[in-house]
Amino acid sequence: MKTFEYARPSTVAEAVALLEQHGPDAELLAGGTDLVIEMRNAWKVPKVVIDLKRIDELRPAIRENGQWISISSTTVMTDIAEDARIQKYFPALVESAVVVGSVQIRARATLAGNICNGSPAADTAPPLLIYRAVVAIAGPAGRHKIPIDDFIVGPGKVALGRGELVTGIELPIPRQPIGAAYTRLTRRRGTDLASITLCCSVEEGGVARIAYGSVGPRAVLVEDSSGVLADPGAPDERKSEILDEVFADASPSLRSMRASPDYRRAMLRVLGARALQTAIDRFGDAS
Ligand SMILES: Cc1cc2nc3c(=O)[nH]c(=O)nc-3n(C[C@H](O)[C@H](O)[C@H](O)COP(=O)(O)OP(=O)(O)OC[C@H]3O[C@@H](n4cnc5c(N)ncnc54)[C@H](O)[C@@H]3O)c2cc1C
Repeated sequence: MKTFEYARPSTVAEAVALLEQHGPDAELLAGGTDLVIEMRNAWKVPKVVIDLKRIDELRPAIRENGQWISISSTTVMTDIAEDARIQKYFPALVESAVVVGSVQIRARATLAGNICNGSPAADTAPPLLIYRAVVAIAGPAGRHKIPIDDFIVGPGKVALGRGELVTGIELPIPRQPIGAAYTRLTRRRGTDLASITLCCSVEEGGVARIAYGSVGPRAVLVEDSSGVLADPGAPDERKSEILDEVFADASPSLRSMRASPDYRRAMLRVLGARALQTAIDRFGDAS
């Protein structure tokens, strides 16, 4: 690993100033589970590493204000999976957090880092899309929030400008019953990145939403308002036709060592139908 400067700011303003000063020569360090590996492999060679863990405002915290749950940017997967409010309102996010890496990785890996790294295979991206998460950003021009769907751009790319960092991720508490389920496909049990990530929800009015990743440059969200996917009694052939449309945007890599494009496309349909059924069942329980 190349030598680098290590900075440990104590306020968001200091971190923003450092980021703005060093631009692409700087990298933020949260849990380091992506960054350290990327630096060791010389995929990233920052001159300055800015550690976020001593910034009081960003310390691990999950807060509820009656309408939103906000998750600070140094909150790790273990804390998210164990939080009773996340379990109650966002069970599919818990299902994604508990499959990230291993016990050791989950104790270090942050939710914000999982999204900011920009991996198309990030496990938490589909549930965050399904639950309409919003990303809170601080930068030289002040603070703003953007929907997760606009924040995720492509491989290694998120909507952060020079000097900007994520302070937290916010989730609107569902006001209506919602059934949601997360699932993924890996080559083996245990620690592995996913060949497919997929989350489904069924909501009031027959709306079904499906978000899927690891089969293209970024996780995508598709909404079906026809009522067919959400209808437990709809004919399988009709559901199958709509699922074909839902997965039309999948463009799995030809060069991936994890799974062939044909296998991924076939398994998308299988996982989609299964997760949809679970979401329908959970919606029935919640209504
Ligand atoms: C063995 C192993 C297994 C893994 N398995 C999985 C898996 O199954 N599923 C999965 O999705 N991931 C997996 N990962 C990847 C990784 O654990 C996650 O992506 C993790 O959530 C990243 O969070 P972090 O806090 O460690 O980020 P870091 O490594 O600290 O940072 C990652 C990137 O995000 C940027 N960043 C971090 N925080 C912020 C912020 N607040 N604002 C702006 N930019 C920021 C950093 O600059 C860096 O570029 C695995 C990693 C390892 C090493």
